[in-house]
Amino acid sequence: MIRIGIVGLGLIGGSLGLEFRAQGYPVVGVSRRQTTCDRACERGLVDRAEVNARILADVDVVFVCTPIGAIAPTLTHIIPHLQENTLVTDVGSVKRPIVEAVRPLWPHFIGGHPMAGTEQQGVEAGCLGLFQNAPYVLTPEPETPAAPLATLQTLVQGLGCRLYLCNPDEHDRAVARISHLPVMVSASLIATCSQGLSPEALKLAQELASSGFRDTSRVGGGNPELGMMMAQYNQTALLAALADYRDRLGRIETLIKQGDWPALAQVLQATQAARSGFL
Ligand code: NAP
Repeated sequence: MIRIGIVGLGLIGGSLGLEFRAQGYPVVGVSRRQTTCDRACERGLVDRAEVNARILADVDVVFVCTPIGAIAPTLTHIIPHLQENTLVTDVGSVKRPIVEAVRPLWPHFIGGHPMAGTEQQGVEAGCLGLFQNAPYVLTPEPETPAAPLATLQTLVQGLGCRLYLCNPDEHDRAVARISHLPVMVSASLIATCSQGLSPEALKLAQELASSGFRDTSRVGGGNPELGMMMAQYNQTALLAALADYRDRLGRIETLIKQGDWPALAQVLQATQAARSGFL
């Protein structure tokens, strides 16, 4: 039986722990605060948890589930406690900078990214079923040996995920469009709706906000540190996506100014048709 270690017991780490334990794998956890470790055990996210990374001494596979900017420092911290062949993977939402930083530190590393989340964070956020039918990207290198990759693929598929293999740059360009750009657009939408109205109009807008606003505001109302790190660590691809988005919005604005309703209808027909390709 594969022995699993999870470092960082928030939304993603906690959810992985619940899933792996439900499948009968032994799971130990590491977090930087004792209160998180205690609560993770109470919630059944892991079998045992400590702030000291020596608890990872016997594990076969470690999932690093700390914030993007903490992933390489986390690895540096845990390496002295790992066996020589322990497989390490991460769940960071950006891949190229992490792979670059971690590759020199540990040869048995395969980057990963489960494409699932909620607006919750911290030790109370982990939940069963989060990964069901979600995409899970692995970014093996050409020199990654087959056996550890196969182990990780088995674990990921056991979560009920749809597995994708790609290189880190392709991953980062794709998620800039479908994940990181929507966070910034949604954040701007929330800010736009929260300002510029009289107190009475704002109250009415809040009362009328329903499923459409819930859908379009969800990702902009999530973990601020995560959104900031998506931008910081995927800056180039996100800026390119934002420039294209601004251009598209500008074209729509022009059509509305011109009252060119047939052209606007054409744009919306095209986007209606394109959406089904994404979902
Ligand atoms: P989270 O709920 O905030 O959990 C983060 C965990 O990391 C906590 O257990 C926290 O420990 C620990 N931590 C926080 N700052 C740390 C630091 N500087 N050094 C070491 N440990 C630290 O976050 P999350 O949403 O699970 O995100 C974790 C990773 O998953 C990120 O890399 C993110 O890119 C990726 N991810 C997130 C989503 C999403 O939608 N949220 C989706 C896919 C992937 P304490 O409680 O002890 O402070």
